[in-house]
Amino acid sequence: MKAIFPGSKRYQVFEVNAKDKVSLEVLAKLQNERSDVYDFWTEPRIANRPMDIMVPPAFTANFVELMQTSDIDYKVKIADVERMMEAKRKAKPVIHGESGTRSGAPRVSLNWESYFDLPVIEEFLAELATKHPNLMTTSVVGQSYEGNNMNLVKISTGGSGKKAIFIDGGFHAREWISPSFVTWVIRELVENYATHPQYADNIDWWNSKIGLLQMYRYKIMPVVNPDGYRYTFAVNGDRLWRKNRRPIVGSDCIGTDLNRNFDFHWDEGGSSDWPCAPIYNCGTAFSEIESRVVRDTILGIANQTVVYLTFHSYGQYWLTPWAYTTNLPSNYDQLYNLAVRAVDKLTAVNGTQYTIGSPTNVLYLHSGLSADWAMGVAGIPYAYIIEMRDTGKHAFELPPDQIIPNNLEMWEAIKVIAEDVIAMAV
Ligand SMILES: [Zn+2]
Repeated sequence: MKAIFPGSKRYQVFEVNAKDKVSLEVLAKLQNERSDVYDFWTEPRIANRPMDIMVPPAFTANFVELMQTSDIDYKVKIADVERMMEAKRKAKPVIHGESGTRSGAPRVSLNWESYFDLPVIEEFLAELATKHPNLMTTSVVGQSYEGNNMNLVKISTGGSGKKAIFIDGGFHAREWISPSFVTWVIRELVENYATHPQYADNIDWWNSKIGLLQMYRYKIMPVVNPDGYRYTFAVNGDRLWRKNRRPIVGSDCIGTDLNRNFDFHWDEGGSSDWPCAPIYNCGTAFSEIESRVVRDTILGIANQTVVYLTFHSYGQYWLTPWAYTTNLPSNYDQLYNLAVRAVDKLTAVNGTQYTIGSPTNVLYLHSGLSADWAMGVAGIPYAYIIEMRDTGKHAFELPPDQIIPNNLEMWEAIKVIAEDVIAMAV
């Protein structure tokens, strides 16, 4: 007899746990072959870690049967996704492009106490660049399919011959913590000491920041998928949207997964040919204007760039290339050791645990990812994909009061990366 779940006429999120490689392969196959139906909120990468999958009502019975016959533990995590989203919208209206002004306080465009749509982020970038013209510049390096700006921030104290660190966020629209962290990095690098009361007595922090600025140029794209991001904020949009927003010719479905669209071992698994799939690869690498703009921006500075960091959520994984194969990159030991040191510092702040997803313990492959391309084609020696908070309790709806704790701990990891890569004399 099949189990009956309350609210099974609704979209539900199941939490499943693949105990071993065989179970993981069942889930990976499901994602590969039926990604038009199932939306994997977390990727099938590592055994014995819970994974969240959104299942449409018509497929609940099939899904449950597959889990039972495959002996995979499962439970309903969200019985009615739509109702949960509706309840959250009513409880706390999302701010649409309005600045978070508090009565009596000066106008601050971004405060990391809420999530903000693209116009506020752009206002923040302009404000900060005006305030620190010798340190920071912003430019529009491209326009998305819907004509939104793709912003590039450059931060440098000047001087020629300095190496660069490239950081991006907002590949996947629903991962709101990503632009929230990347904008925090920008602020941390350029803001005045005096505006950081939490560091007021910490001269080491100040010296360290000066050091970080003197060592590198930073090139930062906070929102590489602006159309998708705006759609997750829009009244008639979809808070759980992942892809970009370009319609697919010959299909009723919209959007390509930009992080399956990069041309390095493209379409070699872990992406989909179905236009309706959340991991749709679009049938050609670099089919999307947004992935091409990221490509061209990185290639323009590739020979100076030593680190590529791309921020996603969720799951608390620190992932190293390669994603497309279990073969190791030639500098794998350095990549891995650096990740361990960064995660140690991160964990020391609040005790937050991250799993370092090296190719040796990641059992399932994905292809067409920007980080693989950054190492494999652009030749950047250190690339990481970082899946930030949480491990699934709130999933993409990470409560705003976790933004600052997330950012503070992740910033500690960034400092390790910047300090150590230079020490390794890349
Ligand atoms: Zn992502």
